[in-house]
Amino acid sequence: MVKLSRRELERYDRQLRIGSFGVKAQRKLKKARVVVAGVGGLGCSAALYLAAAGVGKLTLIDREKVELSNLNRQILHWTKDVGRYKVDSALEKLSQLNPDIEVEGLKTEINGRNVFSLIENADVVVDGMDSFKARLLLNRACIRLGKPFVHAAVYGLMGELMTVLPGKGPCYQCYVTPKPREVKTPPVLGATPGVMGCLEAVEALKLITGVGSPLVGELLIFDGLQMSFRTVKIVRLKGCPACGKPAEGK
Ligand SMILES: [Zn+2]
Repeated sequence: MVKLSRRELERYDRQLRIGSFGVKAQRKLKKARVVVAGVGGLGCSAALYLAAAGVGKLTLIDREKVELSNLNRQILHWTKDVGRYKVDSALEKLSQLNPDIEVEGLKTEINGRNVFSLIENADVVVDGMDSFKARLLLNRACIRLGKPFVHAAVYGLMGELMTVLPGKGPCYQCYVTPKPREVKTPPVLGATPGVMGCLEAVEALKLITGVGSPLVGELLIFDGLQMSFRTVKIVRLKGCPACGKPAEGK
């Protein structure tokens, strides 16, 4: 059984006080591996809180370098990081925030050839991608391997969130079919992926610890203009190309 050091018990003191959480949940976090696919606005926000909460292994995947126009929302990257690989910049900050966890950064694009090997050891996969194509690929791979997939996306001051549990409820493809048109440079107020990335972290932490109920079969919609949250039901698409058949394990 994994042990928690004195320092860890102190670091996580406030979350250990949550009724349904406790040391047992904290040990589960320490043993867990979360893949954060993309270290942009969503990924930065989610990774910060996953690291702070004590997820034992974080794998960050992103092949891009930091650009000045990223800094309004990608909060792990600072002005001095412009030109550096995003995974290097993020790894540096997360390791400083929490030296008791392991963070690895993979400078690669996620594609049909490598997606399975990238996520095969994950307990949860967090969506920090910026295209329908990449999300659909991850969604499909997660279903094939039976991995929980936490999806979020943003546009302007709008955000959406859903959790896909293979074999239980609808998947991301059920929701986005037919595939919408990609927007090359969508507008984003930085705080929007901040909010949605935090919510992804909440879902991932719940899935690992078994605390609470994940957002399955529903889409949470955040509207920053009206400052409202609402959920809409999502149904499983008949004959969905991704989840139409039950998860086969591999
Ligand atoms: Zn589906």
